[in-house]
Amino acid sequence: MAVAVCVLTAAVSLAFGLSGQRLMTLFCVNVCAVLAFQVFSGNTGVVSFGHTAFMGVGAYVSAWLTMPAAIQRTALPNLPSWLAGHELPFLLAILAVLAAGLLLGMLSGMPIARLGGASASIATLGFLIIVYSILAASRDFTRGNQTFYGVPRVTDVVMALSFACLFVIVARLFKDSSLGLMTRATRDNETAAVSVGVNPRRMRYAAWVLSGGMAAVAGALYGHMLGAFTPKDFYFHLAFTYVAMLIVGGMNTVTGAVAGVGLVMFIQELLRNFERGFDIGPLHVPEIFGLPIVGVSLAMLFVLWWRPAGLMGRNEFAHGLFGRFDSGNGTVASPRRAAASSDALRVDRAVKSFAGLTAVDDVSFDVEQGKVTGLIGPNGAGKSTLVNAMTCLYPLNSGRIAIGETRIDALAPHQVAGAGISRTFQNIRLFSGLTVAENVAVAALANGSGLAEAKTIAREELDFVGLGDAAEQPADGLAYGARRRLEIARALATRPRYLLLDEPAAGMNPEETADLAGRLKGLPETRGLGLMLIDHDLKFIMSLCDRVVVLNRGRLLANDRPDAVQRDPSVIEAYTGTRASRAPDGTRTEENGNTTTEELSR
Ligand code: ADP
Ligand code: MG
Repeated sequence: MAVAVCVLTAAVSLAFGLSGQRLMTLFCVNVCAVLAFQVFSGNTGVVSFGHTAFMGVGAYVSAWLTMPAAIQRTALPNLPSWLAGHELPFLLAILAVLAAGLLLGMLSGMPIARLGGASASIATLGFLIIVYSILAASRDFTRGNQTFYGVPRVTDVVMALSFACLFVIVARLFKDSSLGLMTRATRDNETAAVSVGVNPRRMRYAAWVLSGGMAAVAGALYGHMLGAFTPKDFYFHLAFTYVAMLIVGGMNTVTGAVAGVGLVMFIQELLRNFERGFDIGPLHVPEIFGLPIVGVSLAMLFVLWWRPAGLMGRNEFAHGLFGRFDSGNGTVASPRRAAASSDALRVDRAVKSFAGLTAVDDVSFDVEQGKVTGLIGPNGAGKSTLVNAMTCLYPLNSGRIAIGETRIDALAPHQVAGAGISRTFQNIRLFSGLTVAENVAVAALANGSGLAEAKTIAREELDFVGLGDAAEQPADGLAYGARRRLEIARALATRPRYLLLDEPAAGMNPEETADLAGRLKGLPETRGLGLMLIDHDLKFIMSLCDRVVVLNRGRLLANDRPDAVQRDPSVIEAYTGTRASRAPDGTRTEENGNTTTEELSR
C-alpha cells in the first residue's frame, strides 16, 4: 500500500510539475489525517468528528516550537517565555506534537471511550467544539480568530510522502495486531467480545489515544504546509471532508481510507474548475459557490446508498502477500486451563426479575466438572436469563453464583471469561467483519495468548468443530449450523473450565445435531470442563447429559438423572402443557399426547 502511494505521488509530481507536487503534498497530508480517523473509526466502528481537534492542537504546538523567534515576538508578544523562541527543527517538534496528541488523547479518551455507537460519535463532536473554542479563546497563544502566520513551510512532497507511508504501515500493523483484532471484535459485537474477555472500553481507549497522536502529527504536517492558519481551519469543514473521504473509500480498511482520499480529492479538483462558472455550448452557467463540497456530499450519499461499507468494502490491498491467518504454526505454550480443582459452578438461590416478572426465581443447582448438565424448560422458562446471570451480563436481584466458594457474581462481564466461564448465545453473535479464524483467535488473544499462539489455538478449535476448511472465509458467509459451531469453537478458545451452551443445536438439521452431539460428548472428559447444555431437542439432551435441570416459569422443577427426569410427572406436565395421569397398569398416558411428550417419555 505504501509503495502504491509512493508510485502515485511520484507519477503525478513528475507529470504535472510544481502544481502536481503541491497537489500530492496535500494528498499525502490528507492520507495521514484520514488514516488517523481510520485507526479509531475503522476499528471501533465509532464515526469520529473529533480528530481534527487533535490536528489543530498539533499544528499550533509544532508552530510554537519551530517558528522564527523574530516573527514570534511580533505575532505572539504574550507567549510565555518557556514556550517562546525555541526554533526547533521540524522533526524534533514532531516528537513534542506526538506527546501532546497522546496526552490529549489520554485525557479526552477517559469519558469518550466509555461510550459506544452514536453517543460516542456525538461525544467526539463535543470534543471538537470544546477544543476549537479553547483554541479560539487562547489569544495569547493562537492569536484567536486572527491568522496565525510565520509557520515555516517545511512540509514538502517528500516529507509528506514519508509520513504517509509511515502512517499506512502503522495503521495496517495496528489493525492486524492483537489489540486491533480485539477492537474490531468489539466493533462487530460488543456483547460477544465481552463474553470472551475483551474489555471494550480499554480497546476504544487504546485506539483513541493512538489515533489522537497520529492526528496531532498530521495536523503539524498540515500546519507546516499551509504556513498560516486559524482555528477555523481545523473545524467542521475539515472534519466533514475527512469523514466523507473515509465513508467514500470505506473506513474498515486502510486501503479504503487511502482510496477515499484520492477519490474525494479528484472530485474536488475536478469541480473546482467549474466553480467559477462555465459554458455548455451557448449556455452560460454562472458561478456556483461551494460546488466541490456539494459534489463531495453527493458522492458520499451515493456511496452510502450503493455500497454502505464504502467502495473498498472489506478488501485490503495486497492482503494475501503477508501471513494469512490460517498459517498459525506457533506452539501453544499455555496449557489448557486444566481443571484447577474439582470445584463446581454453583448457582445458589438465584433470583432475577424484570419489572414485575420474575424470570429466575430462587434457583439452585451445580454445574459439575467433567460432567454434562442439561438445562431444559419451555420457552420463557428463564434458561437464557440464567446463562446471562451466570456470566454477569445481568446482575442478580439476590442469591449468588460461585465457583466453589469464590463468588463471581460481582465480576464485570468481561472478567467472567478469565474466571473460567465461557458461553454461546441463543441468538448467534459472531464478529461478522472478521474471518472465521479471527473470530476464534480473538477469544484466545483476550485470554493471554500472543498472536502466533492464538492462530494455533484457532486452528485447533476450528478443526475440533469441523470448520478447519473455512478458516479464511468471512464469518457472516457461513451457514446457520456452521455459525453455531463457530461460536462453540470461539467459546472453547478461551480455555474455559465451564462451558455454557445456549441452544447450540437450534436450527440444525438432524444430521448436524447428531454430528454436534458426537463432538460434544467427550468434551468434559478430554478438556476437564463442566458443560451446561440448553436445548429443546430432548433426544439430544437425554443422550448427552449426566444430570438434567428443569426450569418452569423461572422455578426449579427437577434436578435429577435424565431417566428420573423423564419419568417425573410434574416435568411432563410443565413441559408439554398436558396433565400426565397414571393408567391403571402403571404406564403413563397423556391427555393430549404430542410429539414432545413422546420424545420426553422415550
Ligand atoms: P428461555 O431462554 O427459557 O426461553 P428467557 O430466559 O429468554 O427464557 O426468558 C425468561 C423470561 O424473562 C421471559 O418472560 C422473557 O420475556 C423475560 N426476559 C428475558 N430477558 C429479558 C430482558 N432483557 N428484559 C425483560 N424481560 C426479559
Ligand atoms: Mg432462551
